[in-house]
Amino acid sequence: MNDKQLNEPAVRAALAQLQDPETGQKLKPEKQVGEITIDEGAVNCVVRITSHAWPIKDDFSTVAADAIRNEFPDVQQVDISIESLERTTMPKGEVGLTAKSIIAVGSGKGGVGKSTVATSIVLTLAKMGCKVGLLDADVYGPSVPHLLGLDARVEIYDGKMQPVTYEDVPVMSMGFMVKPDEAVIWRGPMLHGSISQLLRDTDWGDLDYLIVDMPPGTGDVALSLSQLLPMTGGIIVCTPQQVALLDAVKAISMFRSIGIPVVGMIENMSGFICPGCNHRYDIFGHGGARKKAEELDVPFLGEIPLNMQIQQQSDVGNLSDSLEDPICAKAMNQIAYNLVRYLSQQAAATPRTVSLPVI
Ligand code: ADP
Repeated sequence: MNDKQLNEPAVRAALAQLQDPETGQKLKPEKQVGEITIDEGAVNCVVRITSHAWPIKDDFSTVAADAIRNEFPDVQQVDISIESLERTTMPKGEVGLTAKSIIAVGSGKGGVGKSTVATSIVLTLAKMGCKVGLLDADVYGPSVPHLLGLDARVEIYDGKMQPVTYEDVPVMSMGFMVKPDEAVIWRGPMLHGSISQLLRDTDWGDLDYLIVDMPPGTGDVALSLSQLLPMTGGIIVCTPQQVALLDAVKAISMFRSIGIPVVGMIENMSGFICPGCNHRYDIFGHGGARKKAEELDVPFLGEIPLNMQIQQQSDVGNLSDSLEDPICAKAMNQIAYNLVRYLSQQAAATPRTVSLPVI
């Protein structure tokens, strides 16, 4: 039987065994375990984690409470308060980006909703309390400015391009530099140069996540990214039809072939839920991406139904309004949560050093 004495140092020691949900390393008790009070068998503790893991903070709180209950079976009640810990990251790659996780969102082909989903992930993570930036690397057809209703030009201060901010989210896009009806023709080296510039010369600040909206299909931009930065992973957006799934499989193999691990697959336009009768119609089919993800050993992050709000609001630059729709909000919250949980599980399996070396 575990008969450990319930006291402050023992509770602190128990909490110090937990893994940080961002890095997978053990908590640093001097920074991450705050005040502990014990009152007649009721324990209150303050534990600090970074906003990178904010979407899974309730899970972490449960893990912390369970750790105390396991160590001290006689404890009556455990309350964990999660507070925010500031932890900057070392500049990454030759472009010196200070983002903890860098995630590319790609698709096998255009029109599956990749930009809509990438932008929605950014807005959802930001709403959940993370520091997120959005790079529209779809240099041939930048659609992020349109989805967010941003009609701005890039300004330069102190030699750095200032991202356009949307509700505190820094956004950078080729769409802020060329006119919407202007065609952009990039050759390989120019493309690489422009991606490198968007990463290096933009004043991104410290970020938990940089989400990169990739051009559909081709591997050129993905290759540039993988050469410029240690990429955390790639997400593939697809629709349920078999033919779309074939393209998605190619996109997964493209990411893998250049060393970008696939951290998730998302099925977009997955059924239509009638707002009048709540009946679900599987217009393009349903469940193909989940099955394919299982076959390919890729995490499945979730499904987003066909939704008129998404289509109508994003068309007039109000994508964020469509995320207020309960069906969309539920789908996007689940996807953001699953992504962060998966990254945290990966970190737990292979703990990272807190400050990553410059590569
Ligand atoms: P891609 O980046 O793959 O080319 P977009 O994100 O530009 O695709 O989306 C293509 C079109 O589909 C847009 O008009 C967008 O509003 C619409 N769309 C995307 N996802 C959905 C959805 N779940 N429901 C309804 N319309 C959607």
